[in-house]
Amino acid sequence: MWYFDAPEIIYGEGALSELEQIKGSRAFIVTDPVLHKLGFTEKVAEHLRNAGMEVASFTEVEPEPSLQTVQKGAEQMRGFQPDVIVGLGGGSSIDAAKAMWVLYERPDLQPDEISPMIELNIGQKAKLIAIPTTAGTGSEATWATVLTDKTDGRKLALGSRETMPTTAIVDPEMSKDMPPRLTADTGLDALTHAVEGYLSSFHNDFTDGICLKAIQLVFEYLPRAYAEPHDMEAREHMANAATLGGLGFINSWASLAHAMGHAFGGQFHIPHGRCVSLFLPYTLEYIAKEPELTRFRDIAHALRLPEGNADEPAAAKAVIAAIRDLHRRLGQPLTVAELGLSREEYEAKLDDLVEFAEGDGTFISAVRIPEREDIEKLFLYAYDGREIDF
Ligand SMILES: [Zn+2]
Repeated sequence: MWYFDAPEIIYGEGALSELEQIKGSRAFIVTDPVLHKLGFTEKVAEHLRNAGMEVASFTEVEPEPSLQTVQKGAEQMRGFQPDVIVGLGGGSSIDAAKAMWVLYERPDLQPDEISPMIELNIGQKAKLIAIPTTAGTGSEATWATVLTDKTDGRKLALGSRETMPTTAIVDPEMSKDMPPRLTADTGLDALTHAVEGYLSSFHNDFTDGICLKAIQLVFEYLPRAYAEPHDMEAREHMANAATLGGLGFINSWASLAHAMGHAFGGQFHIPHGRCVSLFLPYTLEYIAKEPELTRFRDIAHALRLPEGNADEPAAAKAVIAAIRDLHRRLGQPLTVAELGLSREEYEAKLDDLVEFAEGDGTFISAVRIPEREDIEKLFLYAYDGREIDF
């Protein structure tokens, strides 16, 4: 037996105003300084006040939120005693809100103790509403929380099934002003969730359809949202694709591109979506070497590629080529060198990259689990874009 976890999902244009139907008396918004300056906190606070709530906020979440930031926010929450917590932003703010929710209700815990192995028993004091302002991380529909330990740059993939948001409000209006680069980075993160979720060794009947649909939506609508930010049809489908990607991977698990991307992003401070999507084609080539373990034909079918009717190796090749082509259309780097890192600074970190990737929680779901030597080669091949031949 296993579980399928999901929040209540309120979606579509105008979904934000449904905040006024939320029951509560004290709401605490968690967001980042950029969104706060752009007026997002106030926009959300207005709806909460209309619902009769008193509102406070913590607006200091940084990209790759640290354990220290989470402690600070939780402390402020304990002072305010909210019964509604709102995570507003990209993955960083929503992830930080999840961890703060735990520490608010469980002051006896440290943030890095949040794991599926212990019963948290949260939700007694507050519920968590997640409102994404990007279309990619899917954090609104997952219980995963990625925090960074600033002392060594290690990314910690934390979370517990109890940290799933109570409600996700997926309103395309919230992401329509994202600049094209952020649209591409986050949209390709959604694609990586869906592709890895479909090919994970923990895939199941409940996630398969969700992942394939998310893949189709990203291929169809991400180039449109990138080219024309106010194409609301594209924004709406991308917002939905991101939430579907979140549901897909949290219930089947992300895989090697996330393990490598987490390790790499923690060392070089490059946005999450850009990191994981950069490694995706390489990790797919790697698992495609064992075609009896993969299901690329289904993805090729979903994308209406003629190789959907070919054998598995040919389908894998076509799907990986389509993913690389999508990257190029979005002006996205396909090699580590294209990110502007010198080979010397990259190779100097190689041991840490390998160690952190191997220790990442997403590593175990790979249908072909690499030995240490292979992980090192995967990182090296991704530097200058060599085809995986091992
Ligand atoms: Zn991701």
